[in-house]
Order: sequence, then structure tokens, then C-alpha cells
Amino acid sequence: MKAPAFDYVRARSLADALSLLQRHGEAAKIIAGGQSLVPALNLRLVAPSLLVDIGGLAELKGISVDGGVVRIGALTRHVELQRAPEIASHAPLIAEAIRHVAHPAIRNRGTIGGSLAQADPASELPACALALQATIVVAGPQGERRIAAEDFFRGLFETALSPHDVLVAVEVPAIRPDERSAFLELARRSGDYALVGLACHARLADGVLRELRLAYFAIGTKPTLAVNAAKQLVGKPLSEASIADAQAALAQDLAAQDDIHASAATRGQLARVLLRRVLAALLPEAAAERKTA
Ligand code: FAD
Repeated sequence: MKAPAFDYVRARSLADALSLLQRHGEAAKIIAGGQSLVPALNLRLVAPSLLVDIGGLAELKGISVDGGVVRIGALTRHVELQRAPEIASHAPLIAEAIRHVAHPAIRNRGTIGGSLAQADPASELPACALALQATIVVAGPQGERRIAAEDFFRGLFETALSPHDVLVAVEVPAIRPDERSAFLELARRSGDYALVGLACHARLADGVLRELRLAYFAIGTKPTLAVNAAKQLVGKPLSEASIADAQAALAQDLAAQDDIHASAATRGQLARVLLRRVLAALLPEAAAERKTA
């Protein structure tokens, strides 16, 4: 299929992009890397009359680390996240996750801003944003807004963005020495969207989890924090009993759904498997002890 006809404008500045969006309202759509939007246009799932290309805007580019915060411009491509030393050192969860996003051709064009704005429930980066307590920086007609990731993802392909907004950047706290992160997903083939995935970030002291954020994705309509499961694991030594309690608590946290790729029951089982594996990745010492006990 071919896309319906549309006009195309290359925004000259962020202010220009905002003014175009303000003028054209819901008839306009931003295009960044085009890796989600162009397929949607070709399948005629969306039919904007104007595409506003933000790809040339310097204001939305670059990665910086300042005062313990990693700021990633919205136009940062997946391949740049994969290669950036700042991401590897200060946001290793994103570095781990990005390897699972699609294939090299898509990673060469797709952007972090596009991925967060798209809010595909099976996407890796929204779950990382949730696990890392990211702040999403948005420019709109009334100026800049800073939105916590927990408030940004609202539902299936739905975010706190209005049609007049541009996602400018995402900020995540740089990892500290007492923190660890781990990322795992199960997919049928490398590069496929996950059947279920888990991005997690933890603070540890004396081999015990002191804080734990378990952000599941591809299970439900949006990335979801498993708060009840985390409660079963924080503040006590990891044991078979605490892992089993946490796995059982996932039933309260997650609303797994059937679709053509997997049943809700399969997804629930995969979520429990991922929890055990991710804990072994976060606390390899405890996992080794349990094996030898
Ligand atoms: P675009 O396609 O340009 O835009 C996507 C949406 O976001 C549009 O609605 C657009 O208006 C809006 N938008 C873009 N930028 C902004 C902004 N700065 N502010 C406000 N709104 C904005 N993704 C995964 O996460 N995991 C996968 O495994 C995966 N596999 C894929 C496999 C295939 C075959 C394809 C084609 C895509 C896949 N993707 C996957 C999607 C890919 O990662 C996209 O690049 C990404 O989701 C969107 O980024 P983009 O820059 O291409 O956005």
C-alpha cells in the first residue's frame, strides 16, 4: 500500500516546529526517524495532511552528562545510544536494552524521542525510562514541561503529549556506584518485538536490594512497574522463598493480555521466568550461593 497524499515541511527551528503544530493542530504530525510513522502511513493507519520534519533541529540532538544527570536529545538515534560511551558508563540499562531494538537498518534511523512518543507497549526504551525514573522534557505552546516517566505513558500508544507538543529530551539519573541495572527480553527471533521484557534498576547494600524498580513491557497496554513483586524482594536477603513470593505477586501487578503472538497465560509464565533471571543478573553472588547450597 502507499501512503495517502500529504504536505511536507522541514522545520527550521524548534520555535518553527511548534508554530507549525499550533497552526495545523491534529492535521499535522511530527516525523523524526520515520521508522514507526512511515509504516503507519503506508498501512493508512494514520493520514496527516502535513508532516513536520524535525530531523534537522540541533536543539534536539546530543548526549550530555552534568550534575549526575544524563540528558539525551530526542533526535538521538538508537545506533548513537548503542555507541555512546556516556550511555555505556552512566546509563548502562539503555546500552543493554538498545541491542534488542529492531535491526541495524532501523536503529540507524529510529530516535529515542520517536520511540517514547510512539509508546508502543512492546518497546524497550519506554520501559527503561520507567525503570530509571526518567524525566521527559517537552516543549509546547505554553513553554517547557518536565514530565515524570510514570505520568508520561498513559495507555496503548498514548502519552501525555498533545498534538502541539515536541518531545525535546529525556533525562535519567546517572548510575551510582551502589546501583545496578539489568535488562532481559524474550522474543521469537533476534530483532523481533518482545513477547515479554523486563528493564530493572536497583540500589544495593551488603548484597541486599534496598530499592528495586521492575519495569515490564509487552505485557499490557503500557510499560508497567511491578511494585508488589518488588516489595517482596527489598530489604531482605534473596532466597527461594522471596523469589517465589515475588513471582506470585506479579499476578497483582500485571494485566497480561492474549494476542496473536502469545496467550495471557504464556506471558504470565514468561514474566515469572524473567524475574528470576533478572535477579540472578542483579545479584550474581546470591544466585551462585543458592546453587551451591
Ligand atoms: P517516527 O516514526 O518518526 O515517529 C513515531 C511517532 O512519534 C509519530 O507519531 C511521530 O509524530 C512521533 N514523534 C517522533 N518524534 C517526536 C518528538 N520529538 N516529539 C513528539 N512526537 C514525536 N521499536 C522498538 O522499540 N523495539 C523493536 O523491537 C522495534 N522493532 C521494529 C521493527 C521494524 C521492522 C520497524 C519498522 C520498527 C521497529 N521499531 C521497534 C520501531 C523503531 O524503533 C522506531 O524507530 C521508533 O519506535 C520510533 O522512532 P522514530 O524516530 O523512527 O519515530
